Amino acid sequence: MAAHLDRHPVTGQPFASPVPPGTGWPGDPATAQTPVARTSAAVERLARGARGIPELDARISVCRACPRLVAWRESVAREGRRASFADQPYWGRPGPSFGDPEATVLIVGLAPAANGTNRTGRMFTGDRSGDWLYAALYRAGYASQPTSVAAGDGLELTGIRIVAAVRCAPPENKPTTVEKATCAAWLDRDLELAEPRLRSMLALGSIGWDAALGAARRRGWSVPRPKPRFGHGAEALLTTATGREVRLVGSYHVSQQNTFTGKLTEAMLDAVLTRL
Ligand code: SF4
Repeated sequence: MAAHLDRHPVTGQPFASPVPPGTGWPGDPATAQTPVARTSAAVERLARGARGIPELDARISVCRACPRLVAWRESVAREGRRASFADQPYWGRPGPSFGDPEATVLIVGLAPAANGTNRTGRMFTGDRSGDWLYAALYRAGYASQPTSVAAGDGLELTGIRIVAAVRCAPPENKPTTVEKATCAAWLDRDLELAEPRLRSMLALGSIGWDAALGAARRRGWSVPRPKPRFGHGAEALLTTATGREVRLVGSYHVSQQNTFTGKLTEAMLDAVLTRL
């Protein structure tokens, strides 16, 4: 039976959900030939072997190493869409990193949202968390526009790149320990490729904080002991294996839970962005 197709909200091109790699989705880094990781060992091998950010992004975007997350992301894309997006195609694949390949700052997020990145194929795009984050990045001069509605909307980031602890939307936003450990190899390679230029990192939430510290340790960086504690505005100075200092700053996550309740305000987010 032919796959059902829906039209992309920006380009109008019809797509199946999940979106097959290399079929013209705006910003899709992969092709039909991009190698697919199906085990944690393959994630490690393909991450280490990625020769640059475009290849790394492509490999991340087709990864199938975590069976529970693959099943969840694809079932949301096929049958579990939010009613307001029911007529839109859903990406249904891992969210590759997004932003400036020459970035001096990394933002380390938690994981894609089921109806956000899992629908749009771009980090923090198409949900309330993204509205908050990109508006703040625009105010701080990192983003070319204050909104991020869909891939293909013209948004560009300068000097900053968004990565994540986990690249697939997890049920209830809760990845397991094994899933976090499996996905960490992608983050490690992202950090390695960014390292020569890196000045600072902003960790969103305690999972982003722990993921950034874990990746730094695995890269052989020196991390203060005892382990720096996460908090909004927390800061830790990390030292790369070549002796350069990289500042890690913590922020409450831009989740609706935090922004609706006032736990995280625009002023608080603006203040941490000035310290990067
Ligand atoms: S969570 Fe990460 S390692 Fe697991 S399937 Fe998604 S991209 Fe691959």
